[in-house]
Amino acid sequence: MGESRKCRAAVLRAVGAQWQIEELTVDPPVAGEVVVQWKVAGLCHSDEHFVTGDMVPPAEMLEAAGMPPFFPVIAGHEGSGIVVEVGPGVTSVAVGDHVSASFIPSCGRCRYCSSGRQNLCDAGAGAMQNGQIVDGATRHWLNGEPVKLMAKVGTFAEYTCVAEASVIKVDADLPLDAVALVSCGVATGWGSATKRADVRPGDTVVVVGIGGIGINAVQGAAMAGAKRVIAVDPVEFKREKAMEMGATHTFASMEEAFPMVTELTWGQMADKVIMTPGVLYGDMMQLGTALAGKGGTIVVTAIAPITQTESSVNLFELAMYNKEIKGTIFGSLNPRSDIPNLLSLYREGQLKLDELITRRYTLDQINEGYEAMRQGENIRGVIVYE
Ligand SMILES: [Zn+2]
Ligand SMILES: [Zn+2]
Repeated sequence: MGESRKCRAAVLRAVGAQWQIEELTVDPPVAGEVVVQWKVAGLCHSDEHFVTGDMVPPAEMLEAAGMPPFFPVIAGHEGSGIVVEVGPGVTSVAVGDHVSASFIPSCGRCRYCSSGRQNLCDAGAGAMQNGQIVDGATRHWLNGEPVKLMAKVGTFAEYTCVAEASVIKVDADLPLDAVALVSCGVATGWGSATKRADVRPGDTVVVVGIGGIGINAVQGAAMAGAKRVIAVDPVEFKREKAMEMGATHTFASMEEAFPMVTELTWGQMADKVIMTPGVLYGDMMQLGTALAGKGGTIVVTAIAPITQTESSVNLFELAMYNKEIKGTIFGSLNPRSDIPNLLSLYREGQLKLDELITRRYTLDQINEGYEAMRQGENIRGVIVYE
């Protein structure tokens, strides 16, 4: 068995806190695990939900369930890196292989994996809890204190020990920043349009919220042959970016889009609506569902506050207009086939990835990177490790 490694990691210790750079000790892998040296990590909005608290279970809830406190946490679930150590029994990757993170692990054997729904793999249970996928034990420590990894991946650290199920081998000649993007935002957005919404040639598609996910829903809808791709975002720079990535029309708000979609479609409204704002509040669903016409599909991709249980939807119209509302995680894609597929589309010049990166940061600049995201200045910021 190898030895523990010491490295640097960005740690969050409370809701509303800043990310702090601390020394992390990573224990060696056991059977079914690998240690990855991360090279690029995406600053995804999902990690920001720990800072805002939208994705943090209330302390009383954890205590009542007899669970340990949520913090500290090392976030980062979008990333690419190089395998530096493998535990016994690992067969899909070897030392030196380039890998994409897969925040949705895929065991390949459970009911969901084996029926083409790897995004629902049973090994993903407890993604926000402590311990490793393979044995529930702790292998990451801050000065002797156990620390959890977001989605049991933790790309905001130089090294982490992860399950073989959480990494996917990729071709070594692909740029690692492109690989990192595909591991979450690109796949989630593209799959929301092409798979979950099932955009067809000639469809009218509305994408609400143009961040790292929405921009790829725009790209996916255009690739799937949508006749109109209508991007909605309050930030002008994001609307311009959407036009470069395949949007045909842009609006600053759903209120502004509604009469124009009515006019453009001669009252038929959109075939598909993809909801991917920074945070999805329940009252946004009223206009979100109204933007879809008869037989329309509304895909809910964004993260909503974890304790929110109310949402406004006109149920009369939902039934009488035969509409459907669908949730999705990872764009309902299969990481093991779709991550390589998206990268092959990039290699052939069909999928735009380089254009998505607005800025690159060092690990020490992580707070600066997130501040730029909050200000709407980034489509995607990435950390590039030295
Ligand atoms: Zn993400
Ligand atoms: Zn599985």
